[in-house]
Amino acid sequence: MHHFEYRDNEMFCEDVPILKIAKEVGTPFYIYSHATLTRHFSAFDGAFNEVPHLVCFSAKANSNLAVLNLFATLGGGLDIVSGGELYRGLKAGVLPEKIVYSGVGKRIDEIEYALKSNILMFNIESFQELETVNRCAERLNTRARIALRVNPDVDPKTHPYISTGMKKNKFGINREVAISTYKAAQKLSNIDIVGIDCHVGSQLTETAPFVDALRKVKGLITDLEKLGIHIQYLDLGGGLGITYDEEVPPHPDDYARAIVQELGEIPFTLILEPGRVIVGNAGVLVTKCLYAKKSDKKNFVIVDAAMNDLARPSLYDAYHAIQPVIQRKRPPFVADVVGPICESGDFFARDRKLPKCEPGDLVALMSAGAYGFAMSSNYNSRPRIPEVMVKGDRFHVVRERETYETLIQGESLPSFL
Ligand SMILES: *Cc1c(COP(=O)(O)O)cnc(C)c1O
Repeated sequence: MHHFEYRDNEMFCEDVPILKIAKEVGTPFYIYSHATLTRHFSAFDGAFNEVPHLVCFSAKANSNLAVLNLFATLGGGLDIVSGGELYRGLKAGVLPEKIVYSGVGKRIDEIEYALKSNILMFNIESFQELETVNRCAERLNTRARIALRVNPDVDPKTHPYISTGMKKNKFGINREVAISTYKAAQKLSNIDIVGIDCHVGSQLTETAPFVDALRKVKGLITDLEKLGIHIQYLDLGGGLGITYDEEVPPHPDDYARAIVQELGEIPFTLILEPGRVIVGNAGVLVTKCLYAKKSDKKNFVIVDAAMNDLARPSLYDAYHAIQPVIQRKRPPFVADVVGPICESGDFFARDRKLPKCEPGDLVALMSAGAYGFAMSSNYNSRPRIPEVMVKGDRFHVVRERETYETLIQGESLPSFL
């Protein structure tokens, strides 16, 4: 359930007609529904009520300050993967003691920033990273709380680009070396071992891979106990999928039940890092049809948004439903919906059955709240588009449309030209 619905054939976000926002901010733009974001966060968080837990929203899915601030006010933490995301999180009011730092390539300046901010823990992905974090902590005369990210080697059965927990992926530490890495960590002067972490992949539509991963991590925790290493935080990562098309992912309640059941009695805090499941269906991208044209073989609808605004179809061949903002009684036709960028990969849908579009019609690319704006770029020198948050009958531009001036900000001509 989300809050993008038709009233008298006109699409609303909560109580605001989408057309009204379009008139004010122009197209294309992203809209996020406050009610949907709130409900998704609370449903996910509430599903784990039985166990001590912390929901650390994965900032990379949607890192707008207003979105991060909303989750912070709901008691959420943050899963970050860069210094930039740490900066955003702190600006948005996330408490540092609720921030976990993941990622395979943390730079020294980023590690120091996180240490000075006193975040909850680093999810360490290699032995060299562990040593680097120790040295940074030593230099700053502090201690680093760490978890090791273990590669559980389970197949999430998702798109290969978004599966992360298999042996062939770059993420995590293989289980065989995890124990020796923990032992090494025990000996480091400025490291406090507090947790264990894994993340299987993204857009998972079954609970089994999560449970498999958890079972493997539990085995490791038992082995660690024997070495005198006590785990305070078990971080299970993110990855729960959403419905884009016909997928039927587990409800957060079912996901939580499967996990809590496998966990049993736990003497530690469970950390979860959901991204997509919280924000995916809480956002849409609204774009305008510029032209329709026909080639020998195909119909094309050319819209004013492009792959630089929403990369998922080009990148993962991802499906986004496309719905008219105003429903008119027009016969359906089959078309490719494409953007203005000079790449054949610049498409939102191929051979899609749609109501016929005419120039000026607005359409909404549904389920665009996750990995939408966050992945956008300036390719083809296109200013990035605004983000709007709707709450009830109010809306606010939470990120302005970029201008031509901001496009060239920071560029300068060398004197030798
Ligand atoms: C991307 C990522 C997440 C969030 O994944 P979703 O599929 O959006 O839930 C969580 N943890 C880590 C380490 C990630 O890389």
